[in-house]
Amino acid sequence: MSDVFQFMKLSRNPGDKIDASVRKIEFKEIYQPLHAVDAADQAGRCLSCGNPYCEWECPVHNYIPNWLKLVEEGRLFEAAELSHQTNSLPEICGRVCPQDRLCEGACTLDQGGFGAVSIGSIEKYITDEAFKAGWRPDMSKVVWTDKTVGVIGAGPAGLACADVLARNGVKAVVYDRYEEIGGLLTFGIPEFKLEKDVVRRRREILEGMGVEFVLNTEVGKDISIDKLLKKHDAIFMGMGAYRYMRGNFSGEDSPGVLEALPYLINNVRQSLGTLPQGEAAISMRGKRVVVLGGGDTAMDCNRTAIRQGAKRVICAYRRDEANMPGSKREVGNAREEGVEFQWNRQPVSIEPMIGGTLAVKLAETRLGEPDAKGRRNAETVPGSEEIVECDHVIIAFGFQAEVAPWSEQHGIATAPNGRTQAAPHGMYKYQTSNPKVFAGGDMVRGADLVVRAVFDGRQAAEGVLGYLGVW
Ligand code: FAD
Ligand code: SF4
Repeated sequence: MSDVFQFMKLSRNPGDKIDASVRKIEFKEIYQPLHAVDAADQAGRCLSCGNPYCEWECPVHNYIPNWLKLVEEGRLFEAAELSHQTNSLPEICGRVCPQDRLCEGACTLDQGGFGAVSIGSIEKYITDEAFKAGWRPDMSKVVWTDKTVGVIGAGPAGLACADVLARNGVKAVVYDRYEEIGGLLTFGIPEFKLEKDVVRRRREILEGMGVEFVLNTEVGKDISIDKLLKKHDAIFMGMGAYRYMRGNFSGEDSPGVLEALPYLINNVRQSLGTLPQGEAAISMRGKRVVVLGGGDTAMDCNRTAIRQGAKRVICAYRRDEANMPGSKREVGNAREEGVEFQWNRQPVSIEPMIGGTLAVKLAETRLGEPDAKGRRNAETVPGSEEIVECDHVIIAFGFQAEVAPWSEQHGIATAPNGRTQAAPHGMYKYQTSNPKVFAGGDMVRGADLVVRAVFDGRQAAEGVLGYLGVW
């Protein structure tokens, strides 16, 4: 019988965090896994609220209190089974979700000042430990149909779609231009948040379920969309959002100024050993670096530069800390690792200087009225400009979706901002204006979160199953 006062006797423990002095020199996950006893004790802190708000705030609506109970009772395989009923990548979401804004932020214990149940760490624990103990998705009752679906993009949206299709007897063939699956999970999010073995293991699981990956294959270049439309009964597009947002100030294209994503991908490929021939490894060793931006991508660039041995890393953002878009947890981690934040600073120009260094002109800002999303706009303070000298500037202003090259030709409607239009509540969920084509993830929402891409992929798979008459 669990102790209903466990939440008062035991404080929140999301797993030990490796000390900043150690973690800032290695590309390894910084949160240690929970041991079985700690996971059970932490799960026992859950109050089992009648109508759990954590479930509502979790974008995939995980059955959180139910799997916490199973963990408390040591029923690991049942917990893994239940966790996979709503989430195709639970061990990944447990690692990278900004839980403070989602499930844990909605936990009654957090609201009451007791510290939220460590939902993310327990979600990660369940799948990691179940896999180690030999648990695999049960495909024994799957009756395979003769239908096949071409999935474009092996990011979280595509993987989640393939997972649900396979569980319902539909063969998913996933095409990706990269050499490994994961999309931004592999070629974006650094290893100190998500080690790449975790993604590789998920690939093995999906392949074991009958999902086929066709990698190093860009649709529209290495294989035509017409061929895929002929070959498959339906198509799911989960191609992400990669249109780089520019700052539109002078000097943005100067030598030494880098775009965030190519920089992060270069670093991942250095550790995977897959840097293309002719592409030089980028290193910030001994350099003074200025990162411009305040989202997750900026934090990842800051912390990558620190780990590469940068002499100094300054992160400049145009709003204050309270109004920044990135996860508070990751800002805290970056600060502990030595990143210096300059809030309320807007870049005005970048000037190359003699000797190859850069002069970044930053103006101070103050916050004006809230915009349509409730975020306060930054206005520059006249005469407040200051120069920061550095060796590299990394620009991390975010990404926007872009129109797929074949959209117009194949009657796939897109919004003026480049997002593909797919109706979440249409007759077949996430169907585009071309009935045979479905879409989800960042290419529909704009740059967002892993867990929302997973949700879209799963929902779209249900739409596809309806369209194919499997459901
Ligand atoms: P992606 O993950 O972008 O996958 C799209 C895939 O489609 C890619 O593999 C691409 O190669 C492939 N593709 C595109 N076009 C073609 C084509 N023509 N042919 C073949 N393949 C194609 N979210 C979080 O929740 N937590 C975080 O901590 C976090 N950190 C982030 C850090 C960075 C640096 C970035 C950039 C994003 C981060 N995000 C984070 C956001 C998250 O990664 C994305 O929201 C999520 O990956 C979107 O999933 P997706 O499947 O829609 O697209
Ligand atoms: Fe929380 Fe994300 Fe897991 Fe949902 S998927 S329970 S939001 S960590």
